[in-house]
Amino acid sequence: MKITFCGAAETVTGSCHLVETGGLKILLDCGLFQGSHDVESRNRAGFPFSPEEIDYVLLSHSHLDHVGMIPRLVKEGFHGEVIATPPTAAIAKVILADSAHIQSEEAAHHSRHAKRRGEKPLPPLYDMGDVLDSIDAFHHRIPYEEVVRLTDGVEAVFHDAGHILGSATIELRAEGKTLLYSGDLGNSRRPIVRDPTDPPHADIVLIESTYGNRLHRPLQESVDELKQAIHTVLGRGGNLLIPSFALERTQEVLYELFLMWKAKELPQCDIILDSPLAIATTRIFARFPGYFDSEGKAVFSKTPNPFQFPPLRYTQSTDESKHINALPEGNIIIAGSGMCSGGRIVHHLRHNLWREEAGVVFVGYQAHGTLGRTIVDGAKHVRILGEETAVKAGLWTVNGFSAHADQKGLIDWLEKTSADHILLVHGEKDTLPEFEKAIGGRIKAEIRIPQWRETMTL
Ligand SMILES: [Zn+2]
Repeated sequence: MKITFCGAAETVTGSCHLVETGGLKILLDCGLFQGSHDVESRNRAGFPFSPEEIDYVLLSHSHLDHVGMIPRLVKEGFHGEVIATPPTAAIAKVILADSAHIQSEEAAHHSRHAKRRGEKPLPPLYDMGDVLDSIDAFHHRIPYEEVVRLTDGVEAVFHDAGHILGSATIELRAEGKTLLYSGDLGNSRRPIVRDPTDPPHADIVLIESTYGNRLHRPLQESVDELKQAIHTVLGRGGNLLIPSFALERTQEVLYELFLMWKAKELPQCDIILDSPLAIATTRIFARFPGYFDSEGKAVFSKTPNPFQFPPLRYTQSTDESKHINALPEGNIIIAGSGMCSGGRIVHHLRHNLWREEAGVVFVGYQAHGTLGRTIVDGAKHVRILGEETAVKAGLWTVNGFSAHADQKGLIDWLEKTSADHILLVHGEKDTLPEFEKAIGGRIKAEIRIPQWRETMTL
């Protein structure tokens, strides 16, 4: 079995691992690199394989850094199947269409700059036509725990990873061995999604390492912190901004705000969900209640719907979004992108970050090189949309909402696999050695940190 690490090696984005086994070429995810200019330049490095030779993409979930290069793969000749759970396939369409839209905007922006400098413009990685072309590849949808035969002697099974709706850990059986790809692993006892399924025994494990050096505080502490931030900021008349990932995190934050509202713990305010993408993904959640945990099912079966309660407003159009900044302050504004590297949140930051009465609650991971990370790391000034902006708003980092397991969660899960070979992927360069050491303290196995584009034979 040969594995080539085409992405998410010593970084947290661009997940894509090529497995060659039983005469097949299989990709585990095909995601976009996101973050700093250096990291994103890898999207243009070309695939280290021929897309037309790939038989299957086994897709763990629909975050852009796992699914975002599939239209490019199709554009370059892939005509195999993408295998995914039904919610993952449904969400992927929305995520990829949004990605094509962002890329065409970025390409137009680059081309204006390139023209001024007399350089060649950079075309988008793919456009909406490429996304539509790639939709056909998504017809193979499988529920959790069903065995899919890929060819003689090669089988795959998807297990619930408890990360976002439809997310999977992928078990690949071939050559008498079991390779287990964690995908992104969730935290236990989170709202809406179920806990990760206990993993099967595996010989080789590719495990995500995002929080391999961190322990999360319990969710309830984070909910209390969020509540405290809301009362502090709204109490002094400011706007509270929540940069949020459109998929899963937004729905979880809305769910918690709904519970606060229901318990009459929310001050008088508007909650504005200012993200067409989050509005679209929220709609998909309502289509798959069968994938919720038991508490989620119970809450959703009652009215009012936690995604439709009185203080909550959706702003779809750009005009509606612009109008938010003309409103009196004292509202909660949820907008993407989650790391503030683009999207409507950037405009809200420009309008609010310099105000002492305002506040920002970070509820998600902030990767190196992003505006969100710069703010969290304590910058006194940041550049937003070409303008120097002072950071005077109150800042809260609330990590209990994380959709990723922490060090303990990851190692507890790993221990159950009793693997001989552990390969650490999807982690920042400085996190990986700490995670490796922590695993080594508890588990006897060969642990390796693959490099970008390294090939291993196991
Ligand atoms: Zn993810």
